[in-house]
Formats: sequence, structure tokens, C-alpha cells
Amino acid sequence: MAQVLSGKTVSADIREKLKNEVKNMQQKYPGFLPGLAVVQVGGREDSNVYINMKMKAACEVGVNASHINLPRSSTQDEVVETVERLNSDSTVHGIIVQLPMDSENPIDAHLVTNTILPSKDVDGLHQDNAGRLSRGDLDSCVVPCTPRGCLELIHRTGIEVKGKRAVVIGRSKIVGAPMSDLLTWNHATVTVCHSRTADIKEEVQKAEILVVAIGKPQFVKADWIKDGAVVIDCGINSIPDATKKSGKRLVGDVDYDGVKEKASWITPVPGGVGPMTVAMLLQNTVDSAKRTAEMAGSC
Ligand code: NDP
Repeated sequence: MAQVLSGKTVSADIREKLKNEVKNMQQKYPGFLPGLAVVQVGGREDSNVYINMKMKAACEVGVNASHINLPRSSTQDEVVETVERLNSDSTVHGIIVQLPMDSENPIDAHLVTNTILPSKDVDGLHQDNAGRLSRGDLDSCVVPCTPRGCLELIHRTGIEVKGKRAVVIGRSKIVGAPMSDLLTWNHATVTVCHSRTADIKEEVQKAEILVVAIGKPQFVKADWIKDGAVVIDCGINSIPDATKKSGKRLVGDVDYDGVKEKASWITPVPGGVGPMTVAMLLQNTVDSAKRTAEMAGSC
């Protein structure tokens, strides 16, 4: 029976540490105040929920977060201009653009994220950061928040990543691809599975560490799991549930009840990877503010 790897507990611990880190930096550099700008286009309900969580957590650790909500009528040029203005604002150390954008006009999300200065790209989506991560330049890149949170959870099990067989299901720019890079450069032997993988079950059965990020409810079954595997479930899926007042509930990409019988550690949904993503966004923002303060201090 697996031990539960609680992102709720670990993220609370990280937020507490960040709070102290900010206070310590303020003693060393009076006026130190990490700034995060969250750019939203339109008003998707799910985005509003995620942004509220980020704003609340930022306030709790002493990060000054501002929410820039552009109307649905915004053009690509207007969004780019907003990002450029934030790039040159010295009080802002981290910029994220909440995706997907909800616009009446066509907007190239890659162009927008590549407009963010790589040093302020706290979502780690800029091509410079992605390129550095893929080459293993871990000290000079910003690692995307969800994979960074997953790795932190894996570290908390006490199980060494080096030399392990890891399988990542999913290869998106935001989760799967950076996760496989991160595991590779932490010296795991990594297999990436995706929608065209011939036999996913066969690959997953070899995994000592499994990270799943596909967006398919309860896709990974118990008989795919190697005994004692560490299972990290990034999926957030809403499924119908007549026993709930809302008529629905959240589940991951892993069949939790079955898989927990085989794994050594497993993340729940909700309360697993989700809160870690928010904590790592704050960590990336504080890291960026610290780099700025230390560079200014050494001049
Ligand atoms: P994307 O839709 O961008 O990518 C999904 C990936 O899964 C693709 O690489 C796709 O393969 C692969 N895939 C889809 N179907 C299958 C299948 N049947 N078999 C194997 N692989 C498949 O999703 P994201 O990476 O953005 O998100 C994945 C999940 O993680 C979602 O549930 C999302 O809500 C959640 N998420 C959670 C976060 C958190 O903080 N907890 C943060 C971000 C995402 P291909 O490339 O071949 O199309």
C-alpha cells in the first residue's frame, strides 16, 4: 500500500520557507520586494480560479503580485506591448501569461511567451529556458513550475533519482517535455510516452518513477505499475459523480484506488501536484528577485 505524497503538506512547507527567505533578504537588502505580474486575457472561469490561488499564495509569502486583466477584444500587439512594459518594469521580477488566452482575436501564445524576458519567465516557457533545460544547463534556466514541483515531491520520498528507470507520459511544453529533461539531467534513464506510443502499458511496467500528464481521467491502471514505483499524477480531470452535491469530482490521470495498492508512493488528486505548481511559481519569482538584488548589490 503506497504512502501518500501530499503536495498540500510539502507546498505549505515551501511557502513557509519562502516567507522566511523574503524576510531574510529584506534584512540584507532593505526594500527587497519580489514582484509577480499575472497577465490574463479575457475571463475564463478556470483561469480566474487558478489566478486567485496564485494571488492569495503570493500575498501569504510576501510576493507583491499584480493581476493585469486585458479585455477579450485585445489584439496580439496589445498583449505583446503589455509584456514589454512589464519587461522594463524593475519592480517586476516574474511575468506569467495565463494560458489559454480567451481572446476574440488570433494570438500566438508562443510569440507572447517568447516576448517575456527569459530572466523574468517564471513559468519557464521561453524557448531560451526550454533550450537550456533540454541541454542540462540547470543552473542557468528557469524550470517550469509543475515539473519542478513534481521533482521536489520525488525528492521528498527520499528515493534517489540517479540511475532509476523513469517513464513520463505526455510531452507537452508545460509539463511532459520539461519533466523528462529534468529527470534526464537528474540522471534517471527516461522513456517518454505519448499518444502515438505503441504499447504504453509495456513501457510503464518498467518504471520505478512514473510521472503522468495527459489529461485523461484514470487512464493508468494498477496492472501497469511495477511494485514499489513512485507515481506522480499531474492530471486534473472533472468526472460526473452523483454522490456529490456539485454532481462532479476531480480525479487524476491515474486510477488512484487501484494504483495505490502497487506503488510505494503516490500523489493524490486534488492535493498533490496542483499546490506544488503554485509554490514553485513563487519559488521561481523569489529566485528571480534574489538574482536581481544580488547582481545590483555586487555592482
Ligand atoms: P496537453 O494536452 O498539452 O498534453 C497532453 C499530452 O498527453 C500530449 O503529449 C499527448 O500526446 C499525451 N496524450 C494524450 N492522450 C494520450 C493517450 N491516450 N496516451 C498517451 N499519451 C496521451 O496537456 P498538459 O500537459 O498541459 O496537461 C496534462 C494534464 O496535466 C491535464 O490534466 C492538465 O489539467 C494537468 N495539468 C496540471 C497542472 C497542475 O498544476 N497540477 C499544471 C498543468 C497541467 P501527443 O503529444 O502525442 O499529442
